[in-house]
Amino acid sequence: MSSAAWEFWKQIAYSTVSSAYVVAMALVCILQYVLHVHRLSEQRRRNDAERRQKEKLASALRDVQSRQLVSRTESQILHELIVADDLHRAIAELLRQFVPNKATDFAAILECHEEIPRVVLARGLSGGSQAQLRLDRSLRQTALTEGATVVEGARLLGTKLWASLSPADRRKVCHLFLVAAQSDSAGTFFLITTNLFPPNSPQELQLQLAKRLLACLAARLTQGRQVQTHQSELRTTKEMLRLRAIVDRKFEAPLKMIEELLGTLLEMIEADRAALFLVSPSGERSSKPLVRCGAQCHAGVEQQWRHHEETLASLTISGSQPLALRAEELRQLGIETLLGSALVVPMRRQDRLTAILCLTRRRCEPFQPAQQELAEWTAQLLVETMHRALNVALVQRQARQDGLTELANRRAFDVQIEREIEEARRNGSECSLVLLDFDHFKSINDRYGHQAGDAVLRTASRMIREQVGRIRSGDRALIARYGGEEVAVILPGFGVSGAMRVAESIRSAVANTEIPIGGQTIRVTLSAGLATFPVHAQSVQELIAAADAALYQAKQAGRNRVCVASSAVPLPT
Ligand code: GH3
Ligand code: MG
Ligand code: MG
Repeated sequence: MSSAAWEFWKQIAYSTVSSAYVVAMALVCILQYVLHVHRLSEQRRRNDAERRQKEKLASALRDVQSRQLVSRTESQILHELIVADDLHRAIAELLRQFVPNKATDFAAILECHEEIPRVVLARGLSGGSQAQLRLDRSLRQTALTEGATVVEGARLLGTKLWASLSPADRRKVCHLFLVAAQSDSAGTFFLITTNLFPPNSPQELQLQLAKRLLACLAARLTQGRQVQTHQSELRTTKEMLRLRAIVDRKFEAPLKMIEELLGTLLEMIEADRAALFLVSPSGERSSKPLVRCGAQCHAGVEQQWRHHEETLASLTISGSQPLALRAEELRQLGIETLLGSALVVPMRRQDRLTAILCLTRRRCEPFQPAQQELAEWTAQLLVETMHRALNVALVQRQARQDGLTELANRRAFDVQIEREIEEARRNGSECSLVLLDFDHFKSINDRYGHQAGDAVLRTASRMIREQVGRIRSGDRALIARYGGEEVAVILPGFGVSGAMRVAESIRSAVANTEIPIGGQTIRVTLSAGLATFPVHAQSVQELIAAADAALYQAKQAGRNRVCVASSAVPLPT
Protein backbone atom coordinates (compact mmCIF):
# COMPACT_ATOMS: atom_id res chain seq x y z
CA MET A 1 0.00 0.00 0.00
CA SER A 2 1.31 3.36 -0.87
CA SER A 3 2.15 5.79 1.86
CA ALA A 4 -0.48 8.16 0.60
CA ALA A 5 -3.06 5.50 0.88
CA TRP A 6 -1.68 4.60 4.26
CA GLU A 7 -1.95 8.23 5.36
CA PHE A 8 -5.42 8.43 3.95
CA TRP A 9 -6.61 5.40 5.83
CA LYS A 10 -4.79 6.59 8.97
CA GLN A 11 -6.58 9.94 8.71
CA ILE A 12 -9.87 8.18 8.27
CA ALA A 13 -9.16 5.97 11.26
CA TYR A 14 -8.25 8.99 13.47
CA SER A 15 -11.26 10.99 12.56
CA THR A 16 -13.49 8.02 13.13
CA VAL A 17 -11.97 7.35 16.51
CA SER A 18 -12.18 11.00 17.59
CA SER A 19 -15.79 11.26 16.40
CA ALA A 20 -16.61 8.15 18.28
CA TYR A 21 -14.93 9.67 21.32
CA VAL A 22 -16.93 12.88 20.99
CA VAL A 23 -20.17 10.95 20.60
CA ALA A 24 -19.26 8.81 23.56
CA MET A 25 -18.48 11.88 25.62
CA ALA A 26 -21.75 13.51 24.57
CA LEU A 27 -23.64 10.40 25.51
CA VAL A 28 -21.98 10.38 28.90
CA CYS A 29 -22.92 14.01 29.43
CA ILE A 30 -26.54 13.41 28.48
CA LEU A 31 -26.70 10.44 30.72
CA GLN A 32 -25.31 12.43 33.60
CA TYR A 33 -27.78 15.23 32.95
CA VAL A 34 -30.71 12.81 32.90
CA LEU A 35 -29.43 11.27 36.10
CA HIS A 36 -29.18 14.71 37.67
CA VAL A 37 -32.71 15.72 36.65
CA HIS A 38 -34.04 12.45 37.95
CA ARG A 39 -32.28 12.95 41.29
CA LEU A 40 -33.62 16.48 41.55
CA SER A 41 -37.24 15.44 40.98
CA GLU A 42 -36.78 12.56 43.39
CA GLN A 43 -35.54 15.06 45.98
CA ARG A 44 -38.49 17.38 45.34
CA ARG A 45 -40.95 14.53 45.73
CA ARG A 46 -39.36 13.52 48.99
CA ASN A 47 -39.48 17.14 50.19
CA ASP A 48 -43.15 17.43 49.28
CA ALA A 49 -44.01 14.21 51.08
CA GLU A 50 -42.11 15.41 54.13
CA ARG A 51 -43.92 18.77 54.09
CA ARG A 52 -47.27 17.07 53.77
CA GLN A 53 -46.41 14.79 56.62
CA LYS A 54 -45.40 17.77 58.76
CA GLU A 55 -48.62 19.65 57.94
CA LYS A 56 -50.67 16.60 58.78
CA LEU A 57 -48.91 16.28 62.08
CA ALA A 58 -49.40 19.99 62.84
CA SER A 59 -53.11 19.80 62.02
CA ALA A 60 -53.50 16.66 64.12
CA LEU A 61 -51.77 18.49 66.94
CA ARG A 62 -54.07 21.49 66.56
CA ASP A 63 -57.07 19.19 66.54
CA VAL A 64 -55.88 17.44 69.68
CA GLN A 65 -55.29 20.79 71.34
CA SER A 66 -58.76 22.01 70.31
CA ARG A 67 -60.35 18.82 71.53
CA GLN A 68 -58.46 19.12 74.76
CA LEU A 69 -59.61 22.70 75.22
CA VAL A 70 -63.21 21.79 74.39
CA SER A 71 -63.19 18.83 76.72
CA ARG A 72 -61.58 20.88 79.53
CA THR A 73 -64.20 23.62 79.10
CA GLU A 74 -66.95 21.03 78.86
CA SER A 75 -66.03 19.20 82.03
CA GLN A 76 -65.72 22.50 83.88
CA ILE A 77 -69.17 23.73 82.80
CA LEU A 78 -70.81 20.33 83.18
CA HIS A 79 -69.48 20.15 86.72
CA GLU A 80 -71.00 23.56 87.47
CA LEU A 81 -74.32 22.58 85.93
CA ILE A 82 -74.51 19.29 87.78
CA VAL A 83 -73.51 20.43 91.24
CA ALA A 84 -75.11 23.90 91.17
CA ASP A 85 -77.58 24.56 93.98
CA ASP A 86 -78.74 27.58 92.11
CA LEU A 87 -79.40 26.27 88.62
CA HIS A 88 -80.46 29.70 87.45
CA ARG A 89 -77.01 31.08 88.21
CA ALA A 90 -75.32 28.15 86.50
CA ILE A 91 -77.39 28.80 83.35
CA ALA A 92 -76.46 32.48 83.52
CA GLU A 93 -72.79 31.46 83.69
CA LEU A 94 -73.24 29.17 80.70
CA LEU A 95 -74.85 31.95 78.68
CA ARG A 96 -71.94 34.21 79.59
CA GLN A 97 -69.66 31.75 77.78
CA PHE A 98 -71.74 32.01 74.64
CA VAL A 99 -72.11 35.76 74.92
CA PRO A 100 -69.03 37.42 76.39
CA ASN A 101 -70.22 40.74 74.99
CA LYS A 102 -73.92 41.52 75.20
CA ALA A 103 -73.55 44.41 72.76
CA THR A 104 -72.51 42.15 69.91
CA ASP A 105 -74.17 38.79 70.57
CA PHE A 106 -77.14 37.15 72.19
CA ALA A 107 -78.11 33.68 73.36
CA ALA A 108 -81.20 32.23 74.99
CA ILE A 109 -82.32 28.93 76.48
CA LEU A 110 -85.92 28.22 75.51
CA GLU A 111 -88.47 25.65 76.45
CA CYS A 112 -90.83 25.10 73.62
CA HIS A 113 -93.61 22.73 72.60
CA GLU A 114 -95.47 25.04 70.29
CA GLU A 115 -94.37 28.02 68.26
CA ILE A 116 -94.27 30.37 71.24
CA PRO A 117 -91.36 29.43 73.47
CA ARG A 118 -90.89 30.08 77.16
CA VAL A 119 -87.62 31.89 77.70
CA VAL A 120 -85.82 30.08 80.51
CA LEU A 121 -82.99 32.61 80.46
CA ALA A 122 -81.46 34.94 77.91
CA ARG A 123 -78.39 37.11 77.60
CA GLY A 124 -78.00 40.02 75.23
CA LEU A 125 -81.55 39.50 73.90
CA SER A 126 -83.83 42.51 74.43
CA GLY A 127 -87.00 42.21 76.51
CA GLY A 128 -89.07 43.10 73.43
CA SER A 129 -87.59 40.21 71.43
CA GLN A 130 -88.09 37.83 74.35
CA ALA A 131 -91.76 38.75 74.59
CA GLN A 132 -92.32 38.39 70.84
CA LEU A 133 -90.06 35.39 70.27
CA ARG A 134 -91.33 32.69 67.90
CA LEU A 135 -89.58 29.47 66.91
CA ASP A 136 -90.75 28.08 63.56
CA ARG A 137 -91.94 24.50 63.47
CA SER A 138 -89.54 23.68 60.60
CA LEU A 139 -86.55 25.06 62.52
CA ARG A 140 -87.56 23.12 65.62
CA GLN A 141 -87.84 19.92 63.65
CA THR A 142 -84.50 20.35 61.87
CA ALA A 143 -82.77 21.11 65.14
CA LEU A 144 -84.42 18.12 66.79
CA THR A 145 -83.46 15.65 64.06
CA GLU A 146 -79.94 16.99 63.55
CA GLY A 147 -79.26 18.02 67.12
CA ALA A 148 -78.03 21.39 65.92
CA THR A 149 -78.41 23.56 62.87
CA VAL A 150 -76.95 26.80 61.54
CA VAL A 151 -79.50 29.20 60.12
CA GLU A 152 -78.25 31.96 57.88
CA GLY A 153 -78.87 33.98 54.75
CA ALA A 154 -82.21 33.74 52.98
CA ARG A 155 -83.24 30.75 55.10
CA LEU A 156 -82.98 32.89 58.22
CA LEU A 157 -84.69 35.96 56.74
CA GLY A 158 -87.81 33.97 55.89
CA THR A 159 -88.38 32.70 59.46
CA LYS A 160 -90.79 33.87 62.13
CA LEU A 161 -87.81 33.73 64.47
CA TRP A 162 -86.13 36.51 62.46
CA ALA A 163 -89.38 38.48 62.31
CA SER A 164 -89.72 38.29 66.08
CA LEU A 165 -86.30 39.83 66.75
CA SER A 166 -85.97 43.54 67.44
CA PRO A 167 -83.87 45.56 64.94
CA ALA A 168 -81.09 45.91 67.54
CA ASP A 169 -80.97 42.14 68.03
CA ARG A 170 -81.06 41.50 64.28
CA ARG A 171 -77.90 43.56 63.92
CA LYS A 172 -76.13 41.06 66.16
CA VAL A 173 -76.91 38.16 63.86
CA CYS A 174 -74.44 36.98 61.25
CA HIS A 175 -75.64 33.43 61.51
CA LEU A 176 -77.81 31.87 64.13
CA PHE A 177 -77.04 28.53 65.75
CA LEU A 178 -80.01 26.51 66.93
CA VAL A 179 -79.36 23.56 69.23
CA ALA A 180 -82.05 21.19 70.52
CA ALA A 181 -82.31 18.79 73.45
CA GLN A 182 -85.29 16.64 74.21
CA SER A 183 -85.45 15.22 77.70
CA ASP A 184 -87.15 11.82 78.14
CA SER A 185 -90.00 12.93 80.33
CA ALA A 186 -91.40 16.14 79.02
CA GLY A 187 -89.48 19.22 78.06
CA THR A 188 -87.98 20.14 74.73
CA PHE A 189 -85.28 22.72 75.16
CA PHE A 190 -83.57 24.87 72.56
CA LEU A 191 -80.55 27.09 72.59
CA ILE A 192 -80.38 29.95 70.12
CA THR A 193 -77.10 31.77 69.94
CA THR A 194 -75.22 34.07 67.63
CA ASN A 195 -71.86 32.87 68.90
CA LEU A 196 -70.21 29.58 69.88
CA PHE A 197 -67.26 28.83 72.12
CA PRO A 198 -64.43 28.11 72.86
CA PRO A 199 -63.14 30.71 70.42
CA ASN A 200 -60.86 29.56 67.60
CA SER A 201 -62.09 25.97 67.83
CA PRO A 202 -63.60 24.26 64.80
CA GLN A 203 -67.31 25.01 64.48
CA GLU A 204 -68.13 21.31 64.46
CA LEU A 205 -66.51 20.86 67.88
CA GLN A 206 -68.21 24.00 69.19
CA LEU A 207 -71.61 22.73 68.06
CA GLN A 208 -71.01 19.31 69.61
CA LEU A 209 -70.07 20.99 72.88
CA ALA A 210 -73.19 23.17 72.76
CA LYS A 211 -75.32 20.05 72.15
CA ARG A 212 -73.84 18.16 75.09
CA LEU A 213 -74.17 21.14 77.44
CA LEU A 214 -77.79 21.73 76.46
CA ALA A 215 -78.60 18.04 76.92
CA CYS A 216 -77.19 18.16 80.44
CA LEU A 217 -79.06 21.38 81.17
CA ALA A 218 -82.33 19.93 79.88
CA ALA A 219 -81.93 16.92 82.16
CA ARG A 220 -81.26 19.18 85.16
CA LEU A 221 -84.23 21.41 84.38
CA THR A 222 -86.58 18.46 84.00
CA GLN A 223 -85.23 16.84 87.14
CA GLY A 224 -85.78 20.07 89.09
CA ARG A 225 -89.31 20.26 87.77
CA GLN A 226 -90.07 16.67 88.76
CA VAL A 227 -88.93 17.38 92.31
CA GLN A 228 -91.09 20.50 92.33
CA THR A 229 -94.10 18.54 91.04
CA HIS A 230 -93.67 15.91 93.73
CA GLN A 231 -93.33 18.54 96.41
CA SER A 232 -96.39 20.39 95.18
CA GLU A 233 -98.38 17.13 94.96
CA LEU A 234 -97.42 16.39 98.53
CA ARG A 235 -98.38 19.88 99.61
CA THR A 236 -101.70 19.67 97.77
CA THR A 237 -102.51 16.37 99.48
CA LYS A 238 -101.78 17.90 102.87
CA GLU A 239 -103.94 20.91 102.03
CA MET A 240 -106.78 18.67 100.89
CA LEU A 241 -106.61 16.77 104.18
CA ARG A 242 -106.74 20.06 106.07
CA LEU A 243 -109.79 21.23 104.10
CA ARG A 244 -111.49 17.85 104.52
CA ALA A 245 -110.95 18.09 108.30
CA ILE A 246 -112.83 21.41 108.33
CA VAL A 247 -115.83 19.85 106.58
CA ASP A 248 -115.82 16.94 109.04
CA ARG A 249 -115.78 19.20 112.09
CA LYS A 250 -119.00 20.15 113.89
CA PHE A 251 -120.11 23.77 113.50
CA GLU A 252 -122.91 25.64 115.31
CA ALA A 253 -124.03 26.99 111.92
CA PRO A 254 -123.33 25.39 108.52
CA LEU A 255 -122.47 28.78 107.04
CA LYS A 256 -119.65 29.11 109.55
CA MET A 257 -118.16 25.90 108.15
CA ILE A 258 -118.35 27.26 104.59
CA GLU A 259 -116.78 30.51 105.76
CA GLU A 260 -113.91 28.72 107.47
CA LEU A 261 -113.40 26.39 104.52
CA LEU A 262 -113.22 29.26 102.05
CA GLY A 263 -111.06 31.33 104.40
CA THR A 264 -108.55 28.47 104.60
CA LEU A 265 -108.67 27.95 100.82
CA LEU A 266 -107.93 31.66 100.30
CA GLU A 267 -104.82 31.33 102.43
CA MET A 268 -103.68 28.22 100.55
CA ILE A 269 -104.07 29.60 97.05
CA GLU A 270 -102.95 33.10 98.01
CA ALA A 271 -106.20 34.77 96.99
CA ASP A 272 -107.56 37.86 98.73
CA ARG A 273 -111.30 37.30 98.70
CA ALA A 274 -113.91 34.63 98.03
CA ALA A 275 -117.60 34.98 97.21
CA LEU A 276 -120.00 32.07 96.88
CA PHE A 277 -123.15 32.75 94.83
CA LEU A 278 -126.10 30.38 94.77
CA VAL A 279 -127.92 29.53 91.55
CA SER A 280 -131.62 28.76 91.76
CA PRO A 281 -133.07 25.67 90.02
CA SER A 282 -134.40 28.00 87.32
CA GLY A 283 -130.80 29.10 86.62
CA GLU A 284 -131.11 32.49 88.29
CA ARG A 285 -128.07 33.62 90.22
CA SER A 286 -128.59 35.32 93.59
CA SER A 287 -127.30 38.89 93.50
CA LYS A 288 -125.92 38.69 97.02
CA PRO A 289 -123.54 35.85 97.72
CA LEU A 290 -124.24 33.25 100.37
CA VAL A 291 -120.79 33.76 101.83
CA ARG A 292 -118.13 36.38 101.36
CA CYS A 293 -114.81 36.18 103.09
CA GLY A 294 -111.28 37.48 102.92
CA ALA A 295 -109.47 40.78 103.21
CA GLN A 296 -111.38 43.66 104.76
CA CYS A 297 -111.27 46.83 102.70
CA HIS A 298 -112.29 50.42 102.93
CA ALA A 299 -116.07 50.81 102.31
CA GLY A 300 -115.70 52.27 98.79
CA VAL A 301 -113.19 49.64 97.73
CA GLU A 302 -115.32 46.90 99.22
CA GLN A 303 -118.33 48.04 97.21
CA GLN A 304 -116.35 48.01 93.99
CA TRP A 305 -114.78 44.64 94.73
CA ARG A 306 -118.25 43.17 95.33
CA HIS A 307 -119.45 44.61 92.07
CA HIS A 308 -116.53 42.92 90.27
CA GLU A 309 -117.34 39.60 91.96
CA GLU A 310 -120.91 39.85 90.72
CA THR A 311 -119.67 40.57 87.18
CA LEU A 312 -117.44 37.50 87.33
CA ALA A 313 -120.19 35.27 88.70
CA SER A 314 -122.48 36.24 85.84
CA LEU A 315 -119.89 34.93 83.34
CA THR A 316 -120.14 31.36 84.45
CA ILE A 317 -123.89 31.00 84.24
CA SER A 318 -123.65 30.14 80.56
CA GLY A 319 -120.32 28.28 80.55
CA SER A 320 -119.62 25.22 82.62
CA GLN A 321 -115.84 25.32 82.75
CA PRO A 322 -113.81 27.00 85.48
CA LEU A 323 -112.24 30.25 84.33
CA ALA A 324 -108.80 31.45 85.30
CA LEU A 325 -108.62 35.10 84.29
CA ARG A 326 -105.47 37.18 83.98
CA ALA A 327 -105.28 40.94 84.32
CA GLU A 328 -105.69 41.54 80.56
CA GLU A 329 -108.76 39.31 80.37
CA LEU A 330 -110.27 41.09 83.38
CA ARG A 331 -109.69 44.43 81.66
CA GLN A 332 -111.52 43.12 78.60
CA LEU A 333 -114.49 42.36 80.87
CA GLY A 334 -114.46 45.95 82.07
CA ILE A 335 -112.84 45.09 85.43
CA GLU A 336 -110.18 47.75 85.30
CA THR A 337 -109.45 48.30 88.95
CA LEU A 338 -108.52 46.30 92.05
CA LEU A 339 -108.30 42.79 90.61
CA GLY A 340 -105.10 41.37 89.14
CA SER A 341 -106.34 37.82 88.61
CA ALA A 342 -109.45 35.78 89.28
CA LEU A 343 -110.67 32.23 89.39
CA VAL A 344 -114.34 31.50 88.77
CA VAL A 345 -115.44 27.96 89.53
CA PRO A 346 -118.93 26.76 88.63
CA MET A 347 -120.21 24.21 91.15
CA ARG A 348 -122.40 21.42 89.82
CA ARG A 349 -124.48 18.86 91.64
CA GLN A 350 -126.08 16.06 89.65
CA ASP A 351 -125.31 17.96 86.45
CA ARG A 352 -127.05 21.09 87.59
CA LEU A 353 -125.24 24.37 88.25
CA THR A 354 -125.95 25.05 91.91
CA ALA A 355 -123.41 27.68 92.86
CA ILE A 356 -120.50 29.80 91.62
CA LEU A 357 -117.33 30.36 93.56
CA CYS A 358 -115.34 33.52 92.80
CA LEU A 359 -111.78 33.73 94.06
CA THR A 360 -110.01 37.00 93.45
CA ARG A 361 -106.74 38.70 94.22
CA ARG A 362 -105.04 42.01 93.69
CA ARG A 363 -101.74 40.54 92.49
CA CYS A 364 -101.41 40.26 88.72
CA GLU A 365 -99.71 36.87 88.90
CA PRO A 366 -102.18 34.35 87.46
CA PHE A 367 -103.35 31.40 89.56
CA GLN A 368 -101.03 28.40 89.20
CA PRO A 369 -102.49 25.12 87.88
CA ALA A 370 -102.02 23.52 91.34
CA GLN A 371 -103.91 26.41 92.98
CA GLN A 372 -106.66 26.11 90.40
CA GLU A 373 -106.89 22.36 91.00
CA LEU A 374 -107.15 22.86 94.74
CA ALA A 375 -109.90 25.46 94.27
CA GLU A 376 -111.86 23.11 92.00
CA TRP A 377 -111.42 20.23 94.43
CA THR A 378 -112.69 22.43 97.30
CA ALA A 379 -115.65 23.56 95.22
CA GLN A 380 -116.53 19.91 94.60
CA LEU A 381 -116.15 19.12 98.29
CA LEU A 382 -118.31 22.11 99.11
CA VAL A 383 -121.03 21.26 96.64
CA GLU A 384 -121.62 17.94 98.38
CA THR A 385 -121.66 19.34 101.89
CA MET A 386 -123.31 22.62 100.94
CA HIS A 387 -126.51 20.90 99.89
CA ARG A 388 -126.85 19.49 103.40
CA ALA A 389 -125.68 22.72 105.00
CA LEU A 390 -128.10 24.81 102.97
CA ASN A 391 -131.07 22.74 104.04
CA VAL A 392 -130.08 23.26 107.66
CA ALA A 393 -129.46 26.95 106.97
CA LEU A 394 -132.88 27.25 105.34
CA VAL A 395 -134.58 25.79 108.39
CA GLN A 396 -132.54 28.07 110.62
CA ARG A 397 -133.41 31.06 108.48
CA GLN A 398 -137.09 30.17 108.54
CA ALA A 399 -136.90 30.06 112.31
CA ARG A 400 -135.57 33.63 112.22
CA GLN A 401 -137.98 34.96 109.61
CA ASP A 402 -141.39 36.56 109.81
CA GLY A 403 -143.86 34.69 107.66
CA LEU A 404 -145.91 37.66 106.43
CA THR A 405 -143.25 40.25 105.63
CA GLU A 406 -140.26 37.91 105.14
CA LEU A 407 -138.30 40.29 107.33
CA ALA A 408 -136.36 38.92 110.31
CA ASN A 409 -138.63 38.16 113.25
CA ARG A 410 -138.59 39.64 116.71
CA ARG A 411 -136.47 36.82 118.13
CA ALA A 412 -133.78 37.34 115.48
CA PHE A 413 -133.91 41.08 116.22
CA ASP A 414 -133.40 40.50 119.96
CA VAL A 415 -130.37 38.27 119.33
CA GLN A 416 -128.85 40.54 116.70
CA ILE A 417 -129.18 43.82 118.55
CA GLU A 418 -127.39 42.33 121.58
CA ARG A 419 -124.55 41.12 119.30
CA GLU A 420 -124.20 44.39 117.44
CA ILE A 421 -124.14 46.57 120.54
CA GLU A 422 -121.60 44.23 122.09
CA GLU A 423 -119.43 44.49 118.98
CA ALA A 424 -119.81 48.29 118.76
CA ARG A 425 -118.78 48.55 122.40
CA ARG A 426 -115.74 46.33 121.75
CA ASN A 427 -114.67 48.20 118.61
CA GLY A 428 -115.57 51.67 119.86
CA SER A 429 -117.89 52.09 116.85
CA GLU A 430 -121.46 53.33 116.50
CA CYS A 431 -124.66 51.42 115.92
CA SER A 432 -128.01 53.03 115.12
CA LEU A 433 -131.53 51.75 115.55
CA VAL A 434 -134.50 53.04 113.55
CA LEU A 435 -138.03 52.12 114.71
CA LEU A 436 -140.72 52.57 112.06
CA ASP A 437 -144.47 52.57 112.68
CA PHE A 438 -147.13 52.95 110.01
CA ASP A 439 -149.39 55.93 110.47
CA HIS A 440 -153.08 55.35 111.16
CA PHE A 441 -152.80 51.75 110.14
CA LYS A 442 -155.96 50.82 111.96
CA SER A 443 -157.91 52.97 109.54
CA ILE A 444 -156.38 51.10 106.57
CA ASN A 445 -157.60 47.84 108.04
CA ASP A 446 -160.93 49.38 108.75
CA ARG A 447 -161.30 50.83 105.29
CA TYR A 448 -159.85 48.14 103.05
CA GLY A 449 -159.97 45.07 105.22
CA HIS A 450 -157.34 43.17 107.19
CA GLN A 451 -156.11 41.29 104.15
CA ALA A 452 -155.47 44.49 102.25
CA GLY A 453 -153.64 45.69 105.37
CA ASP A 454 -151.47 42.55 105.17
CA ALA A 455 -150.72 43.20 101.50
CA VAL A 456 -149.74 46.80 102.31
CA LEU A 457 -147.43 45.53 105.03
CA ARG A 458 -145.82 43.06 102.61
CA THR A 459 -145.29 45.65 99.87
CA ALA A 460 -144.01 48.30 102.23
CA SER A 461 -141.61 45.77 103.82
CA ARG A 462 -140.19 45.02 100.37
CA MET A 463 -139.70 48.74 99.80
CA ILE A 464 -137.87 49.08 103.11
CA ARG A 465 -135.63 46.14 102.12
CA GLU A 466 -134.86 47.79 98.79
CA GLN A 467 -133.93 51.09 100.40
CA VAL A 468 -131.62 49.42 102.92
CA GLY A 469 -130.16 47.21 100.16
CA ARG A 470 -129.16 50.35 98.25
CA ILE A 471 -127.00 51.82 100.96
CA ARG A 472 -123.28 51.33 100.86
CA SER A 473 -121.74 49.14 103.56
CA GLY A 474 -125.26 48.20 104.64
CA ASP A 475 -124.53 44.52 104.44
CA ARG A 476 -124.72 43.99 108.15
CA ALA A 477 -128.01 45.88 108.49
CA LEU A 478 -130.91 43.86 109.86
CA ILE A 479 -134.57 44.66 109.13
CA ALA A 480 -137.01 42.99 111.48
CA ARG A 481 -140.72 43.03 112.11
CA TYR A 482 -140.62 44.43 115.59
CA GLY A 483 -144.33 44.23 116.42
CA GLY A 484 -147.76 44.41 114.67
CA GLU A 485 -147.02 47.09 112.06
CA GLU A 486 -143.73 48.22 113.48
CA VAL A 487 -140.43 47.60 111.77
CA ALA A 488 -136.94 47.92 113.30
CA VAL A 489 -133.77 48.55 111.32
CA ILE A 490 -130.40 47.90 113.00
CA LEU A 491 -127.61 49.84 111.28
CA PRO A 492 -124.20 48.72 112.60
CA GLY A 493 -121.42 51.23 111.89
CA PHE A 494 -123.94 54.04 111.23
CA GLY A 495 -123.83 57.28 113.20
CA VAL A 496 -126.76 59.71 113.61
CA SER A 497 -126.43 61.45 110.24
CA GLY A 498 -125.93 58.23 108.22
CA ALA A 499 -128.87 56.52 109.91
CA MET A 500 -130.95 59.68 109.44
CA ARG A 501 -130.38 59.48 105.69
CA VAL A 502 -131.42 55.83 105.63
CA ALA A 503 -134.56 56.49 107.69
CA GLU A 504 -135.47 59.47 105.54
CA SER A 505 -135.03 57.48 102.32
CA ILE A 506 -137.36 54.78 103.67
CA ARG A 507 -139.93 57.32 104.79
CA SER A 508 -140.01 59.17 101.47
CA ALA A 509 -139.98 55.97 99.36
CA VAL A 510 -143.04 54.62 101.23
CA ALA A 511 -144.82 57.97 101.28
CA ASN A 512 -144.30 58.55 97.56
CA THR A 513 -145.40 55.13 96.37
CA GLU A 514 -148.92 54.18 95.46
CA ILE A 515 -149.55 50.63 96.58
CA PRO A 516 -151.99 48.77 94.31
CA ILE A 517 -154.63 46.84 96.25
CA GLY A 518 -157.42 45.01 94.46
CA GLY A 519 -157.88 47.41 91.56
CA GLN A 520 -157.21 50.55 93.54
CA THR A 521 -154.14 52.18 95.02
CA ILE A 522 -153.38 53.14 98.60
CA ARG A 523 -150.88 55.59 99.93
CA VAL A 524 -149.42 54.98 103.37
CA THR A 525 -146.97 56.90 105.45
CA LEU A 526 -144.85 55.97 108.36
CA SER A 527 -143.11 57.69 111.23
CA ALA A 528 -139.62 56.87 112.44
CA GLY A 529 -137.62 57.25 115.62
CA LEU A 530 -133.84 57.03 115.55
CA ALA A 531 -131.30 56.49 118.29
CA THR A 532 -127.59 55.79 118.14
CA PHE A 533 -125.31 53.84 120.44
CA PRO A 534 -123.33 55.27 122.26
CA VAL A 535 -124.65 58.83 121.54
CA HIS A 536 -128.13 58.34 123.01
CA ALA A 537 -127.79 55.10 124.92
CA GLN A 538 -125.29 52.90 126.67
CA SER A 539 -127.17 49.60 126.51
CA VAL A 540 -129.61 47.73 124.29
CA GLN A 541 -132.57 48.55 126.50
CA GLU A 542 -131.64 52.25 126.56
CA LEU A 543 -131.23 52.26 122.80
CA ILE A 544 -134.66 50.74 122.16
CA ALA A 545 -136.26 53.09 124.68
CA ALA A 546 -134.54 56.11 123.05
CA ALA A 547 -135.68 55.10 119.55
CA ASP A 548 -139.19 54.46 120.84
CA ALA A 549 -139.33 57.88 122.49
CA ALA A 550 -138.15 59.49 119.22
CA LEU A 551 -140.87 57.57 117.35
CA TYR A 552 -143.46 58.87 119.81
CA GLN A 553 -142.14 62.35 119.19
CA ALA A 554 -142.54 61.88 115.41
CA LYS A 555 -146.16 60.80 115.91
CA GLN A 556 -146.77 63.77 118.17
CA ALA A 557 -145.23 66.16 115.70
CA GLY A 558 -147.75 65.16 113.02
CA ARG A 559 -146.50 61.76 111.65
CA ASN A 560 -144.79 61.00 108.30
CA ARG A 561 -141.47 62.19 109.66
CA VAL A 562 -138.22 61.03 111.24
CA CYS A 563 -137.20 62.17 114.71
CA VAL A 564 -133.84 61.65 116.36
CA ALA A 565 -133.63 60.86 120.06
CA SER A 566 -132.91 64.14 121.78
CA SER A 567 -130.67 62.78 124.51
CA ALA A 568 -130.16 59.71 126.63
CA VAL A 569 -133.53 58.54 127.80
CA PRO A 570 -133.75 57.14 131.32
CA LEU A 571 -135.21 53.67 131.49
CA PRO A 572 -138.50 53.27 133.29
CA THR A 573 -137.83 51.90 136.75
P1 GH3 B 1 -150.56 55.47 114.67
O1 GH3 B 1 -149.52 54.42 114.70
O2 GH3 B 1 -150.37 56.39 113.55
O3 GH3 B 1 -150.72 56.17 115.97
O4 GH3 B 1 -151.96 54.80 114.35
P2 GH3 B 1 -152.18 53.28 114.18
O5 GH3 B 1 -153.59 53.13 113.73
O6 GH3 B 1 -151.21 52.69 113.26
O7 GH3 B 1 -152.06 52.78 115.60
P3 GH3 B 1 -151.18 51.57 116.14
O8 GH3 B 1 -149.83 51.60 115.55
O9 GH3 B 1 -151.27 51.63 117.61
O10 GH3 B 1 -152.05 50.36 115.63
C1 GH3 B 1 -151.53 49.23 114.93
C2 GH3 B 1 -152.60 48.61 114.13
O11 GH3 B 1 -152.04 47.86 113.08
C3 GH3 B 1 -153.41 47.63 114.93
C4 GH3 B 1 -153.71 46.52 114.01
O12 GH3 B 1 -155.03 46.56 113.57
C5 GH3 B 1 -152.85 46.75 112.85
N1 GH3 B 1 -152.02 45.59 112.64
C6 GH3 B 1 -151.03 45.12 113.44
N2 GH3 B 1 -150.51 43.99 112.90
C7 GH3 B 1 -151.18 43.77 111.73
C8 GH3 B 1 -151.07 42.75 110.75
O13 GH3 B 1 -150.29 41.84 110.79
N3 GH3 B 1 -151.93 42.87 109.70
C9 GH3 B 1 -152.79 43.88 109.59
N4 GH3 B 1 -153.59 43.92 108.54
N5 GH3 B 1 -152.91 44.81 110.51
C10 GH3 B 1 -152.13 44.79 111.58
MG1 MG C 1 -149.22 52.68 113.73
MG1 MG D 1 -148.11 50.36 116.03
